[in-house]
Amino acid sequence: ADEFGIALANLADSATGLLTPTLRLGVTGLSRAGKTIFITALVHNLLTQGRLPGFAPLAEGRFIGARLAEYPDATIPRFAYEQHLASLTANPPTWPEGTRRISQLRIVLRFQSAKWWSGMRGPATLNLDIVDYPGEWLLDLPLLGLSFAEWSAEALDRAGQPGHAAEAEDFLRELEKTDATKPATDPDAERLALAFTTYLRRSREHGALSTLPPGRFLLPGDLEGSPALTFAPLPLAAARHGSLYAMLENRFEAYKDRVVRPFFRDHFARLDRQVVLVDTLRALNTGPAAVADLETALTSVLACFRQGEANPLLRPFSRRIDRILFAATKADHVHHTSHDRLEAILNRLVASASKRARFAGAEAESMAISGIRATSEGTIREGGQTLPTLIGTPLAGETLEGQTYDGKTEIALFPGDLPERPDSVFEDGTPVALNFLRFAPPQRLERIATGDIVLPHIRLDRALDYLIGDWMA
Ligand code: GDP
Repeated sequence: ADEFGIALANLADSATGLLTPTLRLGVTGLSRAGKTIFITALVHNLLTQGRLPGFAPLAEGRFIGARLAEYPDATIPRFAYEQHLASLTANPPTWPEGTRRISQLRIVLRFQSAKWWSGMRGPATLNLDIVDYPGEWLLDLPLLGLSFAEWSAEALDRAGQPGHAAEAEDFLRELEKTDATKPATDPDAERLALAFTTYLRRSREHGALSTLPPGRFLLPGDLEGSPALTFAPLPLAAARHGSLYAMLENRFEAYKDRVVRPFFRDHFARLDRQVVLVDTLRALNTGPAAVADLETALTSVLACFRQGEANPLLRPFSRRIDRILFAATKADHVHHTSHDRLEAILNRLVASASKRARFAGAEAESMAISGIRATSEGTIREGGQTLPTLIGTPLAGETLEGQTYDGKTEIALFPGDLPERPDSVFEDGTPVALNFLRFAPPQRLERIATGDIVLPHIRLDRALDYLIGDWMA
């Protein structure tokens, strides 16, 4: 009877091995939104069973363990988890390099289901596949519906607007020197592409978050320097065979077919869940124009999450994201009394952006989080008042009120409060006065009984519970 039992268990094991459910979680956001930190923190907390009181499987004692596993598709770069963790736990710790391209990681989770019959079935397994990709790449979706002439008209119109004059000047001058009806040469194409890319980069550096497509001109991933990225918008001209116009038009079409479409088809369309990270605090701190700009960027990003039927460009890719989490990152830059306010502001930002993107279908929620918390909290007394403060080590070179920090000194900072009503940010356009400094990663990390370090966070457990908790019920 025992043998029979074991044989049966083995059979069940191999069946689950074959049928292990796989949840594909997309992590995106514009450059420096906090994707790398979020994923590193999430994986570390799962592997070490860190402090995740709001993650039901752990809180209920049903979580058995997690391990990293080989990713089934060997052609996609692996998320460099170990390397990122090593930077964060080095002496002194440093922030790792952020996301530049798509990468993936598989983590296998073992747990006991909470369902009444689970006792008979034994522990369950879930493959969590994390897919990290630049939010800039989502801005390319509209290109699929545009011809080269249409895209060129839009892009040149934008470049010619007064607000873009300083950044676009060099590119427009290059364009003037170019006769697109002349026979094509590679150096001409390269010269124009370079000038166009420089223009896009400059607008980005000058504070614009709502970057303009093509997304890979800013974050080329592995395509840096390849002909698929060597094009630029041109004024309408006769696209005679062999002309520069014809060459760039072909390259634009190749970019759509070989770069944009495969990304949506092979990666984006296969996601089950999505987290969109938003550096809301940086925009608030920069001012009302930056907030409006962030809203524009989010509107374009959200357009990709519209249901397939509503979005003809996505129809060929069967879409199925059923839950989206919007997360305002770096919440450790404000006191915890402002976390709910930060959440409310993000909620408002996303609500108006999604209204404009006419986004509907998937369930969505907003949270204020910090993947890795770089500050602790304290109070100072000033003029008979007790003010809540943040305690942390500003990064070398950060300045505030005429003082420049050396990257070694711990300080207490009154960060300022976020407004109680999110409306004041959007309707009145009142700037939010924050004392905003970038901090070094936490310096003294606690260890748990197993010897593993603890990476402190804010509400990462709640985020995790929302994103995968129901798959582990
Ligand atoms: P990515 O480009 O989206 O991958 O962004 P990263 O994850 O590399 O984050 C960009 C930078 O933001 C990091 O180098 C950190 O300086 C900062 N950062 C990200 N997450 C946090 C956080 O939770 N707390 C703090 N204080 N800083 C963060």
